[in-house]
This record gives sequence, structure tokens and C-alpha cells, in this order.
Amino acid sequence: MLFVSTRGQVGKVSSAHAIKEGLAGDGGLFVPQTLPYLSLETILGMHALSYEQCAAKILGYFLTDYSTEELAECTGAAYSSEKFGADPAPLRKVGENCDVLELWHGPTMAFKDIALQILPHLMTKAQEKTGSDFRIVILAATSGDTGKAALEGFADVPGTEIIVFYPEDGVSQVQKLQMVTQTGKNTKVFGIRGNFDDAQRGVKEIFGDAALETELKECGWVFSSANSINWGRLAPQITYYFKAYSDAVAEERIRPGEKIIFSVPTGNFGDILAGYYARKMGLPVKRFICASNSNNVLTDFINTGIYDKNRVLNKTVSPSMDILVSSNLERLLFDLTENDAGQVAEWMKQLNTVGKYQVPKDVAERVRDLFFAAWIDERETVDTIGRVHNDFEYLIDPHTAVAWRAAEKYRLLSSDDSYIVVLSTASPYKFCKTVLEGIGKAEGLNENNPFDAAHRLAEETETSVPPQVTALETMPILHKDVIAAEEMAQHIKKTLGIAQ
Ligand SMILES: *Cc1c(COP(=O)(O)O)cnc(C)c1O
Repeated sequence: MLFVSTRGQVGKVSSAHAIKEGLAGDGGLFVPQTLPYLSLETILGMHALSYEQCAAKILGYFLTDYSTEELAECTGAAYSSEKFGADPAPLRKVGENCDVLELWHGPTMAFKDIALQILPHLMTKAQEKTGSDFRIVILAATSGDTGKAALEGFADVPGTEIIVFYPEDGVSQVQKLQMVTQTGKNTKVFGIRGNFDDAQRGVKEIFGDAALETELKECGWVFSSANSINWGRLAPQITYYFKAYSDAVAEERIRPGEKIIFSVPTGNFGDILAGYYARKMGLPVKRFICASNSNNVLTDFINTGIYDKNRVLNKTVSPSMDILVSSNLERLLFDLTENDAGQVAEWMKQLNTVGKYQVPKDVAERVRDLFFAAWIDERETVDTIGRVHNDFEYLIDPHTAVAWRAAEKYRLLSSDDSYIVVLSTASPYKFCKTVLEGIGKAEGLNENNPFDAAHRLAEETETSVPPQVTALETMPILHKDVIAAEEMAQHIKKTLGIAQ
């Protein structure tokens, strides 16, 4: 299988090339030229497979230049029980004809682990396959979640180095602790004096610095990114849609072939797009619910056909969805315009210059047929956490609450009583304070002790603090450097041992 760019200005490439490069040379995103189609029998058979077998099967349709053994190696390393427990994506029976797919059993307690645990393995193999013997340096600026998930994924993966920059005063206490205690011989974490934009701007400048690139290449290093536009991050997310469906049939929640609904808390549009591809591959899905917080650019786009990023970015209690440009939407537009790369390139140009574009009526209708969009405000998010806990004795994090509430809105507006799977993207223990507010137990928390909220949540809900959080209390701080944004390049060279 070959991959093309959504902007049509580069030739077809192999999957190894697409994964190695991340972004296409014309600024577009790599997409598979065709999609495989799976019979219902094949889909239902996935229930009997382990998660890693299922992932190897799905990846096998796309990464045709990787051997079966190589894919088994990658999925085996990524989805072991030490990393994800018994099941990386269990389907929990929760509500009336509405279940929750828990995607946060990985090392950093967020769904990004599912892709970022495997990406490093796919990337190092891609280096070999494309005949490159450079070692990879992953650079990431992070506002919290992505940096830690990338660190965990790349830690001690041979042939890679990962360097993460976080704004010193722009991440939560737990997020900071998660990063500064990171182990692994090839990991390095820097605090940046400034905010997230300063850190991100610094990384972008380094990616565009040709002299630095040459200097690094001479020493055997090449930069890469673990950004969510990489096909190697998207493809692994297709797996859990199939697995969840086969599990729901096996548990008699639905009949074989019955069309169902997925409600997805959405930011960069990567998670929900993987579901869209699963549907095109034959998965019986009626609709997707695209759930947003008050950064509701996608809700407006789906309802009007106009994408307009000219608005302020709100800081919300579901921070991993605080985003104004949902990059992966470009892939959907490419597909819905029958691969009209010229048109997609024109819209992306408008987005860059005037911050806005409008798709024609027929495209807007196709979007609306398949996606129901709703956005949830802060109060509703917190209330939903409390209500779900009260009604079903089930704890959800704020991102999952957004998807749950959006699903309720869909039911009310559509009177459609189809079976719904709500994707749960983070553990409630990642957002203890907001979850405690939801269940009405947040009074008098000790703001100076980041673990106070976790212990209280455990006591109040008779659940246990996950080992990933408990471990942080005693882990030594390994990364103490705080630097200015202007010093980033210098510190990268120092880390790689090519400067003093
Ligand atoms: C990244 C993230 C999302 C959004 O996923 P996208 O693929 O960017 O749409 C939702 N919830 C959590 C917890 C996340 O970390």
C-alpha cells in the first residue's frame, strides 16, 4: 500500500517513508491511497484475538512494507501487560445502552499512550527500511500530556533520543512531576522560562534551522516529531474501534452487524478520524459524535461548513482539547472531496492567511450526515462527572464527561436509541481536583500537596490510586534544568554530546 499527500505535490511513498517523515514535503498529511475492506466475520473474529494480535492485524493492512514478524515485534513491545495491564482497551458496561471504552490503562494514563507506545518502534524500523542509519532525535514542546506520553514511548528505545520542553509555570504539578522524574538513558526534559507558545515557537524554529540540521547530520543525528499528524500515530488508533465492536457483539450488547454510535472527545481530530477510517473499512457505524469543550471550532464547522479559528483560546478543565486548529480534519476533507488535493491545499492556505475557510454545501452535508457535533461548557462538564458517579457508580475524567454529555444531547435531539460507545481518553486520577469538584468533595484541598487530591478521591469513591501516581511520590527528580527559550538549540547539542 502506498501513501499520498493531501496537498498532492509529492509522489507516492511507502508507509515506512510516511512514518519517518511525519509531514509530507508539500505541507500536507500522508493518507493511504486506498482502504482495505473487512468482512463482518473478520471483524467479529477480533474478539478472540489479544489486543496486540488485533493491532498487528490492522496495521498489517496499511504497513505492507513491514513483515508480519516485524509488526508482531512492534505490537508485542508496545502493548505488553507490564505497560497496559490485562487489556489495553476494556469496554465497560455503564449506562442504559451506553458503554465506555477505557483507553487510559497505559503508562501515562491517557489514550495517547496507545499510539505513542508503538510509534517509536515503527519509526526505528522505518529508518532501517529506508536505508537510513541516522539516529532519531525527537523534539517536543508540551503543554502537559503529549510530552510525557512521548517520553514514555521513546524511553530506552535503541537508536533514539527524546528531548522535551515544557513551560515551567504552564503545566500542572502532577504533569510536571511526571516529566521531571522520567527515567531512560535517552530522555531529557527541560523547563522553559515562559509559556507554552514560547516553548513551541522554539521547537518550530529549531525544526526550520538548516544549519543546525546539517551540523547534526554530520554527527549521525536526524530530527523527527512525534506529533499527532504522523500516520504512525493515527493507524494504531483504528484498532480499538474494531476491538470494541467485536467485544460488544460477544457480550451481547448488540447484534452482529448492528450499526452503532461512537462519542469521541475531540481536539486535533485524530482519535475520531481513526474511527472514520474504521467505518470506511467496513465497521458498522451509524454516526460519530464529535464532542468539544468551549473551544468549539469543530462544532461550528460541522454545523455550518465554516471553519473559523479567529477566536480566543479558552483554558478549560479538559485541557487536552484546548485547540483551535484541528490538523487531522485535513484528512477528512481530502476524503470527502474524493481526493481533491488542489481544493484542500487552497482551504489550508486560507486557514493560514485569513484563519478561515468554507466548504461547499455538498461537502458540508456529507460531514453533517456522519458527524453530530456538540460542545459542553465547564459547569456541565463538572456536573456530568457528579451525575455519572451518582447514577452508575462510575468515575470519569473531564474529557470523558464532555463526550458523555454530548451523547446525552444527541439522544435528546435525535430520539435515536442506538447503542453508544463513549471513548474515555484519560484516567479520572489524572484530573483529581476537577473530578472531586464533580462529586462535591473538593473543599479544603491542600494546594501544596499534589497527592492530597488523589488520596481523597480514592477514599471518597472507594477506588485505588493508580500505581503510576503512587510511584511519583517517591521517585527522584532527574531533570532539573530550566532554561531560556533562546538557549534550546545549544542545550540540544549538549545533550547529544556535540557541544560543550
Ligand atoms: C489528545 C486528547 C484528546 C483529543 O484527541 P484528538 O485525537 O487530538 O482529537 C482527548 N482527550 C485526551 C485526554 C487527550 O489526551
